[in-house]
Amino acid sequence: MRAQKTALITGVTGQDGAYLTKLLLEKNYRVVGAMRRASTLNLPRLAALGVVDDVELMTLDMQDFISITQLIKDVVPDEIYNLGGQSSVQASFKQPLYTAQTSGRGTMSLLEAMRIIAPEARLFEAASSEIFGQNPVGKIDESHDFHPRSPYGVAKLFAYWSVVNYREAYNLHASNGLMFNHESPLRGMEFVTRKITTTLAQIACGGQQQLMLGNLDNARDWGFAGDYVEAMWLMLQQETADDYIVASGETHSVREFVILAAAAMGMQIEFEGEGLQARGIDKKTGRQLVSVSEDFYRPSEPDPLVGDASKAHKQF
Ligand code: GDP
Repeated sequence: MRAQKTALITGVTGQDGAYLTKLLLEKNYRVVGAMRRASTLNLPRLAALGVVDDVELMTLDMQDFISITQLIKDVVPDEIYNLGGQSSVQASFKQPLYTAQTSGRGTMSLLEAMRIIAPEARLFEAASSEIFGQNPVGKIDESHDFHPRSPYGVAKLFAYWSVVNYREAYNLHASNGLMFNHESPLRGMEFVTRKITTTLAQIACGGQQQLMLGNLDNARDWGFAGDYVEAMWLMLQQETADDYIVASGETHSVREFVILAAAAMGMQIEFEGEGLQARGIDKKTGRQLVSVSEDFYRPSEPDPLVGDASKAHKQF
């Protein structure tokens, strides 16, 4: 019988951490989940998927090379999934250096620790579509130019190149999954999909608030997080490490998302006006449900994004 494999997941308390933990436990892995030290435990996502008692939880600070090294030494992982770091693009404009430390330099620290202590392990890096960005033409594949448009994107580009460099320089099995947006009921409230669905659900239940959004015209390639963690695992099962786009291949605007989410709750929203003047009206009651605020616009951001995942489809 094959020996049980050990997986180390950084950022285990996030959306992807929960789905990946569930997947790996089902595949009979020993799963060690690393999370930030905090005064209150943040385990609702792991609890929601019923896996909180089956994962070994440890604390980790992605800014602290010593703690990363110690963790890898203690856990002896076969596979490392790096999902840690500050992951909100919006928040990265407020905390650019913290984002760079955790989502950029953190990846290089992990690679360096792996090189020294566990060079036989395999590493998955949650790279991001945010490293592409300005005026993308057509679908984005692995050969597309980079042009990050946020501190988060800049940090993730540093992480991306760190993975490529450690693979080329030291022959580590390290792969970038260039993940386009992926959502689920476990997605954090700071992301637009959950903000829309939660606020509209409150309104449908009698809430009197409005849904306040930023740029309604921007568009994203949204997939389901449960599928995307499977792609992470598949990447580490390949003989050779490589970089892969993970995307649905479809793009939809924030405005479309609002209309569809409302329809799923039996509401019909019609938009009038453009830009900051845009308003979403409930067709039945005439009540304004959606407004736009400059507060949710970003200083800069990628243009509408859509990915081409044919390389992954072909390979896996
Ligand atoms: P991101 O693609 O990783 O930044 O994921 P988000 O879910 O945060 O944002 C997706 C898109 O929704 C971006 O183009 C945002 O500019 C747009 N958006 C519009 N209004 C909002 C809002 O109120 N909150 C967030 N988070 N994004 C918004």
